[in-house]
Amino acid sequence: MFKKILVANRGEIALRVQRACREMGIKAVMVYSEADREAKYVKLADEAVCIGPAPSGQSYLNMPAIISAAEVTDAEAIHPGYGFLSENADFAERVEQSGFQFIGPTPESIRLMGDKVSAKQAMTKAGVPCVPGSEGQLPEEAAAIRRIAKSVGYPVIIKAAGGGGGRGMRVVHTEAALMGAVQTTRAEAAAAFGNPAVYLEKFLQNPRHIEIQVLADKHKNAVYLGERDCSMQRRHQKVIEEAPAPGIARRLIERIGERCVAACKKTGYRGAGTFEFLYENGEFYFIEMNTRVQVEHPVTEWITGVDIVRTQIMVAAGEKLPFTQRQIQLRGHAIECRINAEDPFKFTPSPGRITAWHAPGGPGVRVDSHVYANYFVPPHYDSMIGKIIAHGDTREQAIARMQTALAETVLEGIHSNIALHRELMVDAKFRAGGTNIHYLEGWLGERQR
Ligand code: ADP
Repeated sequence: MFKKILVANRGEIALRVQRACREMGIKAVMVYSEADREAKYVKLADEAVCIGPAPSGQSYLNMPAIISAAEVTDAEAIHPGYGFLSENADFAERVEQSGFQFIGPTPESIRLMGDKVSAKQAMTKAGVPCVPGSEGQLPEEAAAIRRIAKSVGYPVIIKAAGGGGGRGMRVVHTEAALMGAVQTTRAEAAAAFGNPAVYLEKFLQNPRHIEIQVLADKHKNAVYLGERDCSMQRRHQKVIEEAPAPGIARRLIERIGERCVAACKKTGYRGAGTFEFLYENGEFYFIEMNTRVQVEHPVTEWITGVDIVRTQIMVAAGEKLPFTQRQIQLRGHAIECRINAEDPFKFTPSPGRITAWHAPGGPGVRVDSHVYANYFVPPHYDSMIGKIIAHGDTREQAIARMQTALAETVLEGIHSNIALHRELMVDAKFRAGGTNIHYLEGWLGERQR
């Protein structure tokens, strides 16, 4: 096992990885930008290295600075967390070329899945069902594009091959709007992702977002850890996640889970990963794979009892998965609310100093957050400042515990979406379960009126 790991991230996930290292008797080197100097996980770290100024381009995305930090501290492996460099194949390659273990899949896997066009092609080949659409990227000629859209059937969605984070997508309802949308998405994709390639998919009208968590080792073993329902989204960003997905038959989940495991084995995947699907009328349609730990991993940890971050580290060190598929049993229900520093009505970011913070607790409550009273939320990064996760024997109990947890939480000095979560927990449709990906946006529209 590794003796020392460098954590190339910030915020709650940096703390999560630090905790896993502590538990495993591994020293964790924390890197930080000048804006994160005061973070508690930095102060409490075995070792900490400043990697640059606040803007992430000069710090958390600064590959040479991160690799030199690993060199000077004699770390053996690098955990990338999520976001930042976690899905950057060039980074994974440089990490390994510099003699460190990248805690994640091979650069080849990241590259294959990072391009959504090649990912879909690989999944089709591996027998994973995909959203109907163009075979590969769209050609140049307008006539050919029109033909593809027509055969797929409107509405369609134009998506950037290199897209991520809910950006680089455009829905098209009519042929008249098609070419304009293709051109705009291409231009945006070139600017934002350095890759103008776009592809086209059928736009599913009322799907749910269901994803399958997998774990694989270097010895061709792979398992899936059930599913998560992440349909509660705003602007393609997840707000609430839960596991299991309400109302979907276990045998359907098992069938798709087995396909995902087969795809992992076929592509030589290793580490943690998530296959994201849209689910409509009893069918799953693959949209993309995330080759890293996800924000919402705790709901899966809770219902399976598997520590996903610990397992990532174990398999990166070459160990075999310590469980088989048969040993993965689901227990109860878990829900996660993402806590964002933002205006609960306008959703504008609300960085600043937290004057009071009281985290909830009690049975079935987990809080993953790096914040504390007097912590300054820097304006330079994502607005998520933590997650509250509640577990119960049933979904009703998980919701009741989440309500208690949200009622107990005190956060002052900045705005947050805690009030929004409190409202959503009493919403009849949410409580019934199985809302689709448009539900939250519709609900927000009604609420503002
Ligand atoms: P990203 O990598 O930016 O997260 P995804 O491909 O995962 O992009 O899509 C993000 C979200 O966009 C999905 O959860 C869903 O809400 C919506 N979406 C993507 N593709 C489709 C589609 N074909 N039909 C309907 N909605 C879609």
